[in-house]
Amino acid sequence: PRTLLMIPGPVEVDPEVLAAMARPPLSHMSSAFAVLMQESLDGLREVFDAPDGQPFLIPGSGTLAMEMALANLVEPGDRVVVVDTGYFAARMAELAEWLDAHVIRVTAEPGALPDESQIEAALQQGAKVLTLTHVDTSTGVVAPVERWAPLAHRYGALVVVDGVCAVGGQRFHQTAWEVDVALTGSQKALAVPPGLAIVVARPSALEAYRRRRTRTRSYYADWGKWLPVMEAFQAGRPAYFATPAVNLVAAMAVSLRCIRAEGMEARWARHERIARAFRAGMQSMELEMVPRDPAWAAVTLSVIYYPNGIDDRLIREIEAAGVTVAGAIHPALRGRSFRVGHMGEIGLPALLQTLSAIEIALRRLGHPVTPGAGVAAAQAEWTR
Ligand code: PMP
Repeated sequence: PRTLLMIPGPVEVDPEVLAAMARPPLSHMSSAFAVLMQESLDGLREVFDAPDGQPFLIPGSGTLAMEMALANLVEPGDRVVVVDTGYFAARMAELAEWLDAHVIRVTAEPGALPDESQIEAALQQGAKVLTLTHVDTSTGVVAPVERWAPLAHRYGALVVVDGVCAVGGQRFHQTAWEVDVALTGSQKALAVPPGLAIVVARPSALEAYRRRRTRTRSYYADWGKWLPVMEAFQAGRPAYFATPAVNLVAAMAVSLRCIRAEGMEARWARHERIARAFRAGMQSMELEMVPRDPAWAAVTLSVIYYPNGIDDRLIREIEAAGVTVAGAIHPALRGRSFRVGHMGEIGLPALLQTLSAIEIALRRLGHPVTPGAGVAAAQAEWTR
């Protein structure tokens, strides 16, 4: 039987969004498709709150978006400061090393944030780029982008933000927060199936690209290839470099319509409210969150330690109770914690169903939980 999908991406997708995908593919050179691309690019600028941003919407996953962001800015020997708040931040470091950058890691224990002074010390060595992972999906920790992006600029570094598990759920203002490049994938808080990589580059980043002395170390992800294509679509005209994922773009256009109809403020507030209610449920069951400070806990997902005596069997019991959640991905948290995604079009029914399934699963493994305790705490927080 189908379960409720509550992993940190892919997420549940609205039937209307799916229906948009089920139509026969449009020609990528048709004006009908150009309209969908134009609408999607406009929508993305709004979702990233980047009025001066240039969106790139290309076939690929979030990792390709990371690669497009970094490969277009970094040249061999450049210094890149990576703020490492988990598994996906570490991937950013690996990617920068792949590009033969000189990587300076600023690390923190899982669930913690590094001190600002550590970041400042790294920036003082002179860096071309600082990378931040807005929400690290392996720890559920939120980086204070609004503080650390302007800090990087004071030292002349460009800022790249991995927003894969954040954009569309976690409050974000790309232009106001001075983020030069931000990126995501379609399958997270934008609530579209996986397969689209999204990068928004501000003029500062495109200018840095134009000043490169060497070629981008990726043929497919080179901004020079895609910029004329995106500019044409923005003007409502089709253009070609590589075949776009036409059906996914149709889905993206519909999802962005829903997102804009809700409004970003309302959407961020809904995610905050759901996360607060979910955390109240966890607290009532005396489950501990991996983020050490509630102020650092993401609104898009929760990463939760197992109580004593509980292990990955819990995930299977939650599944048997009708909800799919995820295991840990961070090496230090494997077998010790689980992850619940609560982003996208999620509402109260999915929240309560998930809490109920966690209670049932804990009880089936012999852990003492009062039936309905988590659901009751979440309801109390919801109606506060
Ligand atoms: N960054 C973050 C923060 C992520 O959560 C993910 C996906 N879980 C990625 C990057 C990589 O995205 P993808 O799996 O779509 O390549």
